[in-house]
Amino acid sequence: ELKENTIIIVLGASGDLAKKKTFPALFGLYRQGFLPRDVKIVGYARTKMDKAEFDKRATSYLKNPNDDPEITQAIQQFKDLSTYISGSYEDSEAFANLNAHLEEIESHYKGPEANRLFYFALPPSVFVPVAKNLKEQCYVTKGGGVNRVIVEKPFGKDLDSARELLSSLKQYWTEDETFRIDHYLGKEMVKNLLVLRFANVAMGAAWDKNHISNVQITFKEPFGTEGRGGYFDEFGMIRDVLQNHLLQVLSILTMERPVSFSAEDIRDEKVKVLRSIPPIAREDTLLGQYVSANGKPGYLDDDTVPRNSVCPTFAATTLWIHNPRWEGVPFILKAGKALNEAKVEVRIQFKDVTQGIFKDIARNELVIRIQPSEAVYLKLNAKTPGLYTRAMPTEMDLTYKRRFTEAKIPEAYEALILDALKGDHSNFVRHDELDVAWKIFTPILHWIDGKSGARPRPVPYPYGSRGPKELDPFIQKYGFKRANDSYVWPVTNLA
Ligand code: NAP
Ligand code: NAP
Repeated sequence: ELKENTIIIVLGASGDLAKKKTFPALFGLYRQGFLPRDVKIVGYARTKMDKAEFDKRATSYLKNPNDDPEITQAIQQFKDLSTYISGSYEDSEAFANLNAHLEEIESHYKGPEANRLFYFALPPSVFVPVAKNLKEQCYVTKGGGVNRVIVEKPFGKDLDSARELLSSLKQYWTEDETFRIDHYLGKEMVKNLLVLRFANVAMGAAWDKNHISNVQITFKEPFGTEGRGGYFDEFGMIRDVLQNHLLQVLSILTMERPVSFSAEDIRDEKVKVLRSIPPIAREDTLLGQYVSANGKPGYLDDDTVPRNSVCPTFAATTLWIHNPRWEGVPFILKAGKALNEAKVEVRIQFKDVTQGIFKDIARNELVIRIQPSEAVYLKLNAKTPGLYTRAMPTEMDLTYKRRFTEAKIPEAYEALILDALKGDHSNFVRHDELDVAWKIFTPILHWIDGKSGARPRPVPYPYGSRGPKELDPFIQKYGFKRANDSYVWPVTNLA
């Protein structure tokens, strides 16, 4: 249930995330009629700018390629319901000033209730003072309204720093008021995992160690740091993608069936499966760094990257789940920059069919393509049509664009902001989930950071390749078998 009389306050409104994600998502929701009727949006940051300058920035990523008059009008209305206040993040008086502005807006609302949703589009260095000042100066109690905060990663750099950040924020905002975004949880195909698994007997029946040989969860980006290496180098590929986004996908893919679709039931199951995963072992880790190739610069050629950095721009790690369903099944999480393509997918490889009538037949694979071009396809063997008795690998293909020609797939941030407005925590990260995620990754992160001896050297891979040459042997070590496309499997005795 959407609450009327709501103000959405974007803190760090002058920044990159606000411009590229937050405002476009708010506009998308507004246009589709998903925001409360009288909603107002307030931007807040230190930068001094007038309303025109703020509008220009806030709408710079709204798309209207054909100058559609309807969209032009909606953009104007969106500007009309937005205002901007500048002020510091540390100074309580600045927040008292923000509060006065919010109260002014609320004085025009009908009814006694006032609700505020605070969106932190801020660097983590100011999370705590902003959380404190908002609680002390801008917490509204009028008419029993609600206050909520949305925060984004990074939530710390390892287990200790994450715990410290969590407990600092907890002093001011309760778990119930806090919405921790991992935007992968807003992606259509990640949400689809619940339905694919639990609404299909055929899927559910094969979802265990007896049928599945290995699983890969893959993130590939076709570009390098390109001048933003300073930020990246502090974090590396594991913190940027594996510890949060890919681990979230893993937990939904492997959790037991929740008692209900309620937020706590789902998150209880996610935490339970994550707690069955021991910290990643060094020997289950492959680290890479891209080097110059085909006229493209290497990671160390980026001027914003420290010289001789050993930061991994590619990482593959294998996780093991010690529970009866998954014992012995390797889950390979892999992610890299400057690779040959852009894609995020889950690839579940089933076991070999019993030998006998078939020899060397391709394995079934279920591929869930998260992006781009959402799809679910099952690679399965069929008889080659015609007067031969041969089997060949084919696909059962659910490509969304083809199957759902009219559907608009929402942006992850649209889905998540709407959930936060409704108070639904299902697709947000609970505190204990974050804690266990850090437990799994902290030992290898400390090893990579040189906190437990010499830092490991990532192996080089050329810009634009599939990753280090060590990747395929690494994956094969865990039982992955790739079928050759041009290969046709002769079937003997198909009587
Ligand atoms: P940003 O542009 O660097 O920072 C947002 C705003 O915060 C800036 O416009 C600036 O506003 C203020 N700010 C920047 N550095 C500051 C500092 N050292 N001290 C105080 N204020 C500072 O960051 P962002 O890319 O928007 O990201 C915001 C948060 O979201 C970060 O935690 C980031 O890791 C996370 N995130 C970003 C993206 C993305 O696409 N950009 C994606 C996922 C997560 P004023 O100077 O006007 O106050
Ligand atoms: P595929 O190209 O047969 O296999 C891709 C897998 O093989 C990935 O795990 C990839 O690893 C690995 N790989 C790619 N090149 C390799 C190489 N040179 N050496 C070793 N491993 C390599 O494609 P598929 O995704 O299984 O799909 C099978 C068929 O279904 C394709 O014809 C595809 O076009 C079609 N299909 C696609 C979609 C879709 O994408 N929306 C939908 C339906 C059907 P990395 O990921 O690590 O590179």
